[in-house]
Amino acid sequence: MQTIKGTIHCKYNSNFIQSIKMWKLGGNIFALLFVMIFLSSQALAQKGSRITTVVIDAGHGGKDPGAMGKHSKEKDITLAVALKTGQYIEKYLPDVKVIYTRKDDRFVPLYKRAEIANKNKADFFISIHCNANKSSGPFGAETYVMGLHKSKANLDVAMMENASIMFEDNAGTTYDGFDPSLPQSYIQFTLFQSEYLDQSLQLAYDIQRQFKDRVGRRDRGVHQAGFLVLWKTAMPGVLVELGYLSNPTEEKFLLSEKGQVYLASAIYRAFKEYKQEFEKQNKVVAKAETKTTRPDLKYRVQFYTNKKNIPLTNRRFKKVSDVQVYQQNGMYKYTSGEFSTPDSANVHLKTVKKAGFKDAFVVVFKEGKRITLKEAKQLK
Ligand SMILES: [Zn+2]
Repeated sequence: MQTIKGTIHCKYNSNFIQSIKMWKLGGNIFALLFVMIFLSSQALAQKGSRITTVVIDAGHGGKDPGAMGKHSKEKDITLAVALKTGQYIEKYLPDVKVIYTRKDDRFVPLYKRAEIANKNKADFFISIHCNANKSSGPFGAETYVMGLHKSKANLDVAMMENASIMFEDNAGTTYDGFDPSLPQSYIQFTLFQSEYLDQSLQLAYDIQRQFKDRVGRRDRGVHQAGFLVLWKTAMPGVLVELGYLSNPTEEKFLLSEKGQVYLASAIYRAFKEYKQEFEKQNKVVAKAETKTTRPDLKYRVQFYTNKKNIPLTNRRFKKVSDVQVYQQNGMYKYTSGEFSTPDSANVHLKTVKKAGFKDAFVVVFKEGKRITLKEAKQLK
């Protein structure tokens, strides 16, 4: 593929950050309006209280075979597992509409897959893939959400999957010059902040737990990386790597009817669990948000404290989203997420605890300064 120069800007998020900067600097009324409109649309997006449409995306297809095993092509396994997953959802969750990006062996460009999801206003996007490695050693399943990679291994997976656009005509203009094979193309994802990150992570963890506990797969964890197909979708989304076609034992499992049924039912069960939990929590949040909120109060989930200032890119923060640090009494304190109500923060607290930070708790800031929950209550 030819090398295309130029960078993409993350449409919504860089604008958003820009606006906040403008707002802070000059009190620009238009920027303030923009932020307010953005935030209210964001609140609306999250208030969809039910999950009724899901897009199941079978990776690759047609002239794009994806990863190659000794006896298999990724595109065939992703299609089989995607169709089975969709069938389970259709059968056991009849209130959910399942949309497939492909139902047979055909080539569908990445941007088209995202377009299908966006046009149908899907509530979730699940992309199904298989991994491969130069060595036959690695095996196991992992699930990705959109974001900046924290290891070269994760970047490699995104590069491999994004290489699909090499089969597309006009990829240069479609993706604004994004070159999937250049590490510097991925730097832009530093700015990526998804309003759907928590939801995406939630399903990702649910899927991995199902893979591990119910299908006996090796759990390679939940990661973030810059996948174009997730980047272009305007909803929560995950990209599942079912296993390694380069590992003979795993390839055999992935090719088997039994293996495909197990993996598909695991994704289905995780989705069902996620949907039920989401709909339950949403009722709570919707109720809480009808109370008046104070714009100067922000709630975060504190999960870690250290005497040293640890970079936010550190491995230990890999499993939590939107990490920030503040200093108090000579200690560095690390938080995840930022919410306008304690109830929303409490919902996020569950996710952080699930990620392994059992002692996490909700803290509150007034105009950036830590206060106690009691003080916050008295302000209302
Ligand atoms: Zn793939």
